[in-house]
Amino acid sequence: MHSDHSATTPSAPADIQSIRQRATAMLSRFYGYSTFRPLQLDIITTAMTGRDSVVLMPTGGGKSICYQIPALLSDGVVIVVSPLIALMKDQVAALTSNGIPAAAVNSMQTEEENRDILEQLYSGRVRILYISPERLLLEIDRWSSDLNIALFAIDEAHCISQWGHDFRPGYTRLRCIKEQYPHVPVMALTATADRLTRDDIAAQLALTDPRLFIGSFDRPNISLRVMTNPGKTQRVNFICSMIDRYRNDSGIVYCISRKGAEEMDRQLRGRGYRSVVYHAGLSVSERNLAQDRFINGDVQVVCATVAFGMGIDKSNIRWVVHNNMPRNIESYYQEIGRAGRDGAKAEAVMFYSYADIATLRSFVDESGQQALNAEKLARMKEYAEASLCRRRILLSYFNETIDHDCGNCDVCLNPPERIDGTVLVLKALSAIVRINGGAGITMLIDILRGVSRQELVQRGFDRIKTYGAGRDLSFGEWNAYISQMIQLGLIDIAYNEHNHLKLTPYGRKILDERSEVLLAKYYPMESRRRAGRKSVAEEKPQLSPAEQLLEQLKTVREKIARKEHVPPYIVFTDKALLEMVRVEPLDMEQFSRVEGVGERKTVKYWRPFVTAIRKFKGVTEKLGTGLSVEETLLLLNAGYDVAAIAEAKGIKPITVYTHLVELINADKLTDFSSVITREQYLRVMEVVKTHPDDYYDILRDEMPAGLPRMAIAITDFLLRKKGNA
Ligand code: ADP
Ligand code: ZN
Repeated sequence: MHSDHSATTPSAPADIQSIRQRATAMLSRFYGYSTFRPLQLDIITTAMTGRDSVVLMPTGGGKSICYQIPALLSDGVVIVVSPLIALMKDQVAALTSNGIPAAAVNSMQTEEENRDILEQLYSGRVRILYISPERLLLEIDRWSSDLNIALFAIDEAHCISQWGHDFRPGYTRLRCIKEQYPHVPVMALTATADRLTRDDIAAQLALTDPRLFIGSFDRPNISLRVMTNPGKTQRVNFICSMIDRYRNDSGIVYCISRKGAEEMDRQLRGRGYRSVVYHAGLSVSERNLAQDRFINGDVQVVCATVAFGMGIDKSNIRWVVHNNMPRNIESYYQEIGRAGRDGAKAEAVMFYSYADIATLRSFVDESGQQALNAEKLARMKEYAEASLCRRRILLSYFNETIDHDCGNCDVCLNPPERIDGTVLVLKALSAIVRINGGAGITMLIDILRGVSRQELVQRGFDRIKTYGAGRDLSFGEWNAYISQMIQLGLIDIAYNEHNHLKLTPYGRKILDERSEVLLAKYYPMESRRRAGRKSVAEEKPQLSPAEQLLEQLKTVREKIARKEHVPPYIVFTDKALLEMVRVEPLDMEQFSRVEGVGERKTVKYWRPFVTAIRKFKGVTEKLGTGLSVEETLLLLNAGYDVAAIAEAKGIKPITVYTHLVELINADKLTDFSSVITREQYLRVMEVVKTHPDDYYDILRDEMPAGLPRMAIAITDFLLRKKGNA
């Protein structure tokens, strides 16, 4: 039988307390984070006390840590079942860079590599194993009872459900996990699951009384914005300005069609930007290439259809632009959620046009579940047309209420000022009546503004009474106000009649009764921003000191990433770099305390980053070689032995021993296995006992100088401990 390692007996509060403390210590040592996000700690203790769980958290919510930390807290291995093979490599790289031994078994590696890794499982050297469901089903029968498994984590667990949108047949047989390992806890994780799917996950996996965790879907770091009816050039200009703003990072442009994605990609490349296209019409190898180039930071932007994104775990996506409105809020939320996964500031901008609605309506008509999909589209449209905080609308869709406006969406930042729009409404409505609802929005505006273009004149629209009645307003103003009239339900768009505008019964009533209508005041935001942007493009942008430092740290990161053949965000996330900019660490110790910098990364990277920061700050005094005792402790904890510490710091081993003595005397070092062997210790004690005055000379040739003195400090420590007990 397999080991029953993660106690199934109910845990005493004291145990839970100790798990929490140790988990927090691991979070700081290996990840460099000082606090857990909500739910993470409860999820970890649930697993550590042997209970099953279902975890619902949005993408970027911090699910991985929930199953990774149990691997650090127990002797057993954590098996992570994931359908996203392409992602495994990245996750293993991220773990390894933090000093956590992890590996993956999948079809992208040679069979020999896979065999090797599976063998290593028994040695306890691999702490976290990523495996595809198909492969797990093959292996699970071969595993012997010697294999100590601490936890099974089922990632993307919605794939198990027929109700979910990503059903994978390979997942349905995963109930064999619980059958074969009834006492090993299972943690099922997903970012998308309605109640039906949620229950299905638990049932399909045969979980025992699982605890359900539902994290907040709020992603406050992503700002939300909708631009209504932007023109073609305006769209491209805007996307270019995003690329410029985040020159060293990347973004995604989502398009409704393959053609649209290709066209956008062409435009961007035409303007000299590094762009790549991704959609389901490309071959598998073309798609993989595009995805790799995006992940490695080769390109600044990917122009894609919805086919792109599943399994994208790149933490420095800073922006997502929707060139077209998505078909429902679930998709929208998942797509914007790919930005800002490191928690640093990110932007989501959606272009909204009535033409999209027509296309999306036709999708709905062709879909299997018309009524449902029509309703979902209607909710999406409400979001796009909102004059309320957009985040509140989004979260309320997921049944999550927040009792305040978010302050980070366009509506919150530009709360609409109301004006008396009665006269404008009457002009527009009567124009529609006079032309018998025979025009779309552009034509209507041209009529109101008295434009004399050919088609308009030919159809006699220049002879109606309201022709030119709205000359005083710009096209943009009319466009905005008519959009509002549509949102208010005064006007309807006849999608089946060339998108011509019609009066609704409510509009007819307003027109007849001439009642007052309030509209949100129009601000020519775009024109102002465009003017600003022009000067930005012409001159070199003025960066603030913080931005300058950030740029330099990114360069340092880039160099390291290239040398180590990993994507830059594996070295440090943007969020960690931003923290460095804020804290400005000037030595190794300060560096180690930066949020997002764990022990291993401290040891590996402190020099180049601290050097860059010191240079930037004009600190001329030479960087000390790091003589502090604390630094020695840190290196020791990161797995360095005395010789390696001496070398890393450029000091003599005897000095390291002096530090160790100091640490032992201060009770800061309590595990001596890495600094002295049992034989060495006993030998020192023996000689000290027999030759108390000249033990040093006798031992000099046998062991490093400094070691005997440390052994004596250890004895003192042990005596102290006994005394306390
Ligand atoms: P998910 O798997 O839910 O999509 P991840 O586990 O990849 O999300 O986490 C997203 C980001 O949040 C990662 O950069 C991760 O390091 C960071 N993160 C997770 N937990 C914490 C925490 N407690 N404090 C700070 N950052 C965290
Ligand atoms: Zn808001």
